[in-house]
Amino acid sequence: MDLATPLIAAHYAEIALKGRNRPMFLRRLIQNVRAALTDEPVAAVDHVESRLLIRLADPDRAPAATAKLRKVFGIQWLSPVVPVPREEIGDDLAGLCRVAAAVARQNCGEARNFKIDTRRSDRTFPVISPEINRIVGTAVQQAIGLPARMARPDFTVHILVLKQNTLVFTGKITAHGGLPVGTGGKVAVLLSGGIDSPVAAWLLMKRGCTPRFVHFFAGRSVAEADTGKIEALAAILAGYSPYPLELHLVPVYPYEEQAIGRIEDSYDMVLFRRFMFKCAEHLAGQAGCLALVAGDSLGQVASQTLANLAAICPDVALPVFRPLIGMDKYQITDLAQEIGTYELSIAPYRDCCSIRSPRPVLNAQAKDLLELSQEIDLPTAVTEALAAAEKITVGPSRS
Ligand code: ATP
Ligand code: MG
Repeated sequence: MDLATPLIAAHYAEIALKGRNRPMFLRRLIQNVRAALTDEPVAAVDHVESRLLIRLADPDRAPAATAKLRKVFGIQWLSPVVPVPREEIGDDLAGLCRVAAAVARQNCGEARNFKIDTRRSDRTFPVISPEINRIVGTAVQQAIGLPARMARPDFTVHILVLKQNTLVFTGKITAHGGLPVGTGGKVAVLLSGGIDSPVAAWLLMKRGCTPRFVHFFAGRSVAEADTGKIEALAAILAGYSPYPLELHLVPVYPYEEQAIGRIEDSYDMVLFRRFMFKCAEHLAGQAGCLALVAGDSLGQVASQTLANLAAICPDVALPVFRPLIGMDKYQITDLAQEIGTYELSIAPYRDCCSIRSPRPVLNAQAKDLLELSQEIDLPTAVTEALAAAEKITVGPSRS
């Protein structure tokens, strides 16, 4: 029996809980699935009984397509499936047993036991799930010569009974869940070359947001700053998006020209962060972003004490999201590895924060920062930096 399957089932979870807005989320999910599979031979994307069935014209592309679908937020888990049409199942389930046995034979590997797990989406199917488990289990046992085991089996053959087809599959490939990109509005993400901020961006994308990246570079020009690493990080993140993403590259020399010799080293880092947030606030307003996002984690570095975070931008009119605030570096690193940004994040880059004094004040006060901002004319530095900024469009890079 040829089991090379052109059919992939994609299951969503959170979208199923949506009420009246569910059709909007589903429409976007289907659009994003199609975008992710632009280079694959997609024959159809159907919504069937609360899951998507993606049919490919070439079954050999199923593994590559599955890997691409893992990057579509909204999908909880995926599986290449073998369909058994209703008319081929047979009253005694012989047709289903044949397919399940073949699937088990192909996938049992070194397993010492197995389990059949049946779900009936179609409640009118005349045989109930435990009975299907029993009948198909007996057939599979004979085919592969292994005993069934209910608790912690070495592998599971799943059977999903739908109206037109019954789906047979083994592995469930977990995806990231969340909500489809494009359903959550736009956010401006302060993207550095480090480990943290790409993870922060990804977490907001996972909630459906479209990020507009803002990166601040040291040097007179983009060419001098060599921002290739930042563009590559943005491209990895754009791989999770159905459309290309914007990256704003903003020079920091207008701040430095004002601050050098006038701002004490201990205040420079926090005032510089204020400069970044004020620039991002302006860009966000122009781009229709409703919030700013940064990769701060409480206490990770001296500039990220609670007092400093509270003092840096009390007058920014947009909400500032810091999705990593309660995570430690190990958790963040694990996520960066999962996302695919970690290796690039640890590559060398002359970030404009890394060249500042490493001993900032721990207890900055908002009023002091506001006074210092006036003293050095921070608004003019912001205006000049934005006038010299460049905007590029990145990705999506799908690998
Ligand atoms: P690391 O992994 O080194 O901590 P990071 O990106 O978290 O990298 P931090 O110095 O901790 O860097 O900065 C805290 C946050 O400030 C970042 O997560 C990012 O949101 C923002 N930020 C820092 N430097 C820049 C920059 N050059 N451009 C844009 N945003 C920046
Ligand atoms: Mg950090």
